[in-house]
Amino acid sequence: MIPYGRQSIDQDDIQAVTETLQSAYLTTGPKVKEFEQALASYVGAQHAVVVSSGTAALHAAYAVLGLGPGDEILVPTMSFLATANAALYVGAKPVFVDSLPNGFVLDLKDARRKITPRTKAIAPVHFAGEPVDLDAVHALAKEFHLKVIEDAAHALGAEYHHKRIGSLSDMTIFSFHPVKHVTTAEGGAITTQDAVLARRLQQFRHHGIDVGVNERDAKQQWRYDMSDLGYNYRLSDIQCALGLSQLKKADRFLARRSEITNTYQKAFSSLSYLRLPNVMTDGNRHAWHLYPIQLDTKALGLSRDDVFVRLRSRGIGVQVHYRPIHLNSYYSRLGSKKGDCPQAETLFENILSLPLFPAMTDEMVQRVISEVKQLAPMASTPGKTA
Ligand SMILES: *Cc1c(COP(=O)(O)O)cnc(C)c1O
Repeated sequence: MIPYGRQSIDQDDIQAVTETLQSAYLTTGPKVKEFEQALASYVGAQHAVVVSSGTAALHAAYAVLGLGPGDEILVPTMSFLATANAALYVGAKPVFVDSLPNGFVLDLKDARRKITPRTKAIAPVHFAGEPVDLDAVHALAKEFHLKVIEDAAHALGAEYHHKRIGSLSDMTIFSFHPVKHVTTAEGGAITTQDAVLARRLQQFRHHGIDVGVNERDAKQQWRYDMSDLGYNYRLSDIQCALGLSQLKKADRFLARRSEITNTYQKAFSSLSYLRLPNVMTDGNRHAWHLYPIQLDTKALGLSRDDVFVRLRSRGIGVQVHYRPIHLNSYYSRLGSKKGDCPQAETLFENILSLPLFPAMTDEMVQRVISEVKQLAPMASTPGKTA
C-alpha cells in the first residue's frame, strides 16, 4: 500500500538523534533553542516556541492571546479537529466557518456573517498548504478587533505575497507530526513577532513558571514562581535534534512535493470527473502537504466511498481530509448540526487525498496516476465501450 503520507528519515537524522541520546541533555537542553532559532529563521519570524504537538501549539496560542470563557473563535469546519478542540481547552467556543464554493479554505463572507460581539479571534487554516487570502483575513480582523492565529500545520514553506507563512499574524502554529513537512515524531511550534507573547508561550509550556525566574536558576538560585497556570508541553532535545536535521531538508522535501503535484496536475488535467486543487499564482506558494481531489461522483457513477474502497484495494492509500468538524458527534451534542456549513458538507462527500510525500518514487506516482485514470466510466465498464 502506498500511504497518503509518510516521513523521510535518513542516516543524518538517525545520527542527530543518537548524538543527543549520548549528550548531557535529553530534554530542555541546547537543541531546543537551536531548533527554535532555525525554525524562526526558516519562516522569517522573530520568535519560535516549540511545544509537544501542533495541538499543544494551538492551545498555547489561544491561551496566551487571552481567549477564554465567553469568547468565540472562528475556525474553518474543513480542518483537523484540533483547530476547534483547542478553543474548548481554553473554555472558548469554536464557531464553524464554511468553505469557499468548490474550495477547501474558509469563506470569509461566511465568517463575517457569523461574527457576534463575543467573537475575539479567527484561526484560518492554509488547507493542504494553500495560503488563505491573508489580506482579507487581516482586514476582517481589523474591522472587528480579532486576534489572528494561523493554523499552518499544512503550510511550512508556503508563501503569501512572496513572504513565508509564519510572521504575518499575531501567531502562527506548525505541526511536526510524521505526515507533515518535517517531523519530530510528535511536536509543534508557535511563531510570533512579539517578544512578550513568546515569553508567555515559554511559560505556558513549562507549568506557568515564570521563565525569568527560571533563568536566574542557572545562576545557582533555587527561586521560581508559577505566576499563571501552565502545562507540561515541552519538546525534548531528542526531538529537537531530529527537527533540526529535518529542517535542513525542508526545501528539498518541498521541491519534491511540488514536482509530484505537477506530475499529477498534468496527468489528470484531461479527466472530466476530477476537480484538481488550485495552483498558486501572484507570489503565493503552495506547500503541498496534501493533494486533495474532488470527484464528480455523478459522472463517475461511483460514490466517494466506492472510489476509496476501490483505490485502497488496488494499493493506493487514499485518505479523506476531512470530515467537517461540526459533523462529529461531540460537536452535535454542543449544538452543531448538518446545514451549518453546506459547502463544506457537500465538499466532504466528494473529496479524497492522493498519496503525496517526498520519498515517493516516480514509479509510485505513475501507479497512482494509472489507478486514478482507470476510474474513468468507460474504462470501468469495458463491456460498454464503443
Ligand atoms: C496536524 C494538524 C494539527 C495538529 O497537529 P498535531 O501535531 O497532530 O497535534 C492541527 N491542525 C491541522 C490543520 C493539522 O493538520
